[in-house]
Amino acid sequence: MKVYITGRFYEKEDATISVFDHGFLFGDGVFEGMRSYNGNVFRMKEHIDRLWNSAKGLMIEIPLSKDEMIAAVNETLRINEISDGYIRLIVTRGIGTLGLDAHLCKNPQIVIITDHLKLYPAEFYEKGLELVTAATIRTNPAALSPQIKSLNYLNNIMAKIEGHLAGCVEALMLNDKGEVAEATGDNIFIVTREMLWTPPTDAGILEGITRQVVIDIAGEFGVPVKQSPMTRQDIFSADECFLTGSAAELIPIIKLDGRVIGNGKPGRLTLQLLERFHAETRK
Ligand code: PMP
Repeated sequence: MKVYITGRFYEKEDATISVFDHGFLFGDGVFEGMRSYNGNVFRMKEHIDRLWNSAKGLMIEIPLSKDEMIAAVNETLRINEISDGYIRLIVTRGIGTLGLDAHLCKNPQIVIITDHLKLYPAEFYEKGLELVTAATIRTNPAALSPQIKSLNYLNNIMAKIEGHLAGCVEALMLNDKGEVAEATGDNIFIVTREMLWTPPTDAGILEGITRQVVIDIAGEFGVPVKQSPMTRQDIFSADECFLTGSAAELIPIIKLDGRVIGNGKPGRLTLQLLERFHAETRK
């Protein structure tokens, strides 16, 4: 497995970044997680645009053009002979001093890692997942925009640990108003009375690329989509629930905090959307 670091390919064992890189010292960097299907990176342009916007927020100057970045991602897939895989694209602030001064970091580093996919087991898609609500909340968007997909994922990690302690592979995160935000690495949707409902971006969520694909497919299906604040009770009383993300695609949720959602099985609309989503990835 070869890893791209700022213009060169390294064997996995030799693919290292300096301990003085502010990405390591402070989580000062941005990233994207993408999927390739049959050699094509799904919604690559959207991911690259989001990476650039995250970097702009942090004032990190990416030392490539978007086209060069796309070429580097494709080359990394090609060199590793991966056609259906996962791609992690990272841009760090680069090497600096032990102080916070970002302006002393002159060379942002680009890392591209590709791997074969480690999806949730098929059984989870067939039976659905159970979630618990984490006590760790999402960062207030006024403190740090959730649209900046930064290397600091501490709230999400703590929430995921809470999920694990409760025997769940994912956890639900609320915002500082107590509203539903998202799962630790995925957006959330519910279905109530044949309508899709997902928290709005100002609930402190990352505006997921898969979330938008699902909203677009719902539009094609003629299913109305509501984006307004959601509570846990809305999920308890929903007919269906699912998460969306580049790695997970659409994964059904059948229980939250011990409450069975709908009939406790992956819902009809969830499965229809998943089928249509698969068709979209193969286009
Ligand atoms: N929310 C968070 C916090 C995420 O990190 C991600 C991506 N892993 C998502 C939602 C899903 O976004 P996307 O569909 O763009 O992968």
